[in-house]
Amino acid sequence: MVETQAVVGEKTGSTAIPEFKNFINGQWKPAKSGRTFQSINPANPSDIVGIFPASDKQDVDEAVAVAKKAYEEWRLYPAPKRAEILFRAGQIFAERKEELSRELTREMGKVLAEARGDIQEVIDMVFYAAGEGRRMFGNTTPSELKNKFAMSVRMPIGVIACITPWNFPMAIPSWKIAPALVAGNTVIFKPASDTPLVATRFVEILEEAGLPAGVLNMVTGGGGAVGDAILEHPDVRLVSFTGSCEVGRHVNEKCAPTFKRVSLEMGGKNATIVMDDANLDLAVDGIIWGAFGTAGQRCTATSRVIVQKGIYPKLRDKLVEKAKSLKLGYGLDPGVDVGPVINEASLKKIEKYVQIGQEDGAKLICGGHRATSAGSGWFFEPTIFDEVKPNMRIAQEEIFGPVTALIPVSDLKEALHVANDIEFGLSTAIYTKNVNQAFEAIRDLDAGITYVNAPTIGAEVHLPFGGTKNTGNGHREAAEACLDIFTEWKTVYIDYSDKLQRAQIDPAE
Ligand code: NAD
Repeated sequence: MVETQAVVGEKTGSTAIPEFKNFINGQWKPAKSGRTFQSINPANPSDIVGIFPASDKQDVDEAVAVAKKAYEEWRLYPAPKRAEILFRAGQIFAERKEELSRELTREMGKVLAEARGDIQEVIDMVFYAAGEGRRMFGNTTPSELKNKFAMSVRMPIGVIACITPWNFPMAIPSWKIAPALVAGNTVIFKPASDTPLVATRFVEILEEAGLPAGVLNMVTGGGGAVGDAILEHPDVRLVSFTGSCEVGRHVNEKCAPTFKRVSLEMGGKNATIVMDDANLDLAVDGIIWGAFGTAGQRCTATSRVIVQKGIYPKLRDKLVEKAKSLKLGYGLDPGVDVGPVINEASLKKIEKYVQIGQEDGAKLICGGHRATSAGSGWFFEPTIFDEVKPNMRIAQEEIFGPVTALIPVSDLKEALHVANDIEFGLSTAIYTKNVNQAFEAIRDLDAGITYVNAPTIGAEVHLPFGGTKNTGNGHREAAEACLDIFTEWKTVYIDYSDKLQRAQIDPAE
């Protein structure tokens, strides 16, 4: 039974704590300082997953220098050949899906079914990006002058840095690293400090697939020590960041003096609208999954539920009943619906917001406490607030835990206003059987993603992903947009008239 298989060092008796290294120039090496940090299982903090290099500027400098050197050859290696390496990697991810999923659950906490989804997203994204190796289309277009040819081609950018969060510790690196590599860039990968094991596995597979030395380098360690060294390095040309708005703002500011390209994917406060005519049970299922899947730690989590007054009481009661029936526990144990949150600081932040919600006058009708009965880890009860006012802090700020806020409204106009009256713009959903209302919502919800009769979570890799307003800075990941971040356009004019032809001035003769 897969459910009872152990991963290396899992809490099955093995006491050896494996030690892992940075990956620089095709070699696994410790931090130059010799310092390390531990990654722990959030469901059981006494289970140490591994020991990792606590790197700093010296390690970043070395990684950037080798990535800069490797870029000269990698950018000239044909894109279809670069893609072949990614196809091989995709195959290995598929073959190892189960063991990778189990390690992911152990290190990050999400339940096994969701961890499998995380790895499947990697497989999908790596294959999708590899396909770009034989597309990466530019344009040809007629010139306004005779005997002149015009086209545009994509160019790689150079050494790029990918800074990623822990909540999709494999999928998000794949959204960035796979397209960056197929486009001909070389990469410095700085994973979140809560999930370095999964990041290491990601890099090991790309190494095994045949990536040349120096093309992908991983430096683990803290956001300050490693992150700032990356942001300040003059040879890093682009920083692709996913994480909180707070750190994203810092990344943006730090990158400004050297004019680094910056792509930012940040927080969300995602609304599901439920209209009176909605399929009630479908809406309940979607909200429970959207709010409490991954213990609410998705950038697209349903953290606001905006409900028309006619359906409100029934929806509220059903949500509470379902939320209370969810089983909390270790994500590798069968039957568990909700795993722990990532760490103690996160748990404390959620506790603080529950207190703020109550102080601000919202009614706590479900959960609201640390779930000690689920285990020694960072478990928090699925939590629902009733009669929330749209301007309350629990309805405006990202909590990033299993907490959702029910907000009553009178009609669609008010629902759309409440949904949009927020600094974020990632994902939105509406439950209605009325096609007119659905299309109005699609048109008017100010967000990068809108679902109709489906939860706020569930992105697929061949559609663009990203948000409006403070969720991002105008970029999209995945889909055909995946190359836009990691390439620059070169426009090429080829004049075969053998004479000076002046655009906008000379007549075409
Ligand atoms: P975070 O902002 O704390 O950390 C993200 C990454 O930035 C980590 O690797 C961290 O080590 C690094 N970092 C921290 N300080 C840094 C610094 N000074 N310089 C450079 N890098 C630094 O976010 P998190 O807690 O890992 O992830 C949760 C957040 O991510 C939530 O806000 C969530 O909404 C967001 N998120 C957004 C998306 C999206 O696509 N929009 C997807 C997933 C998560």
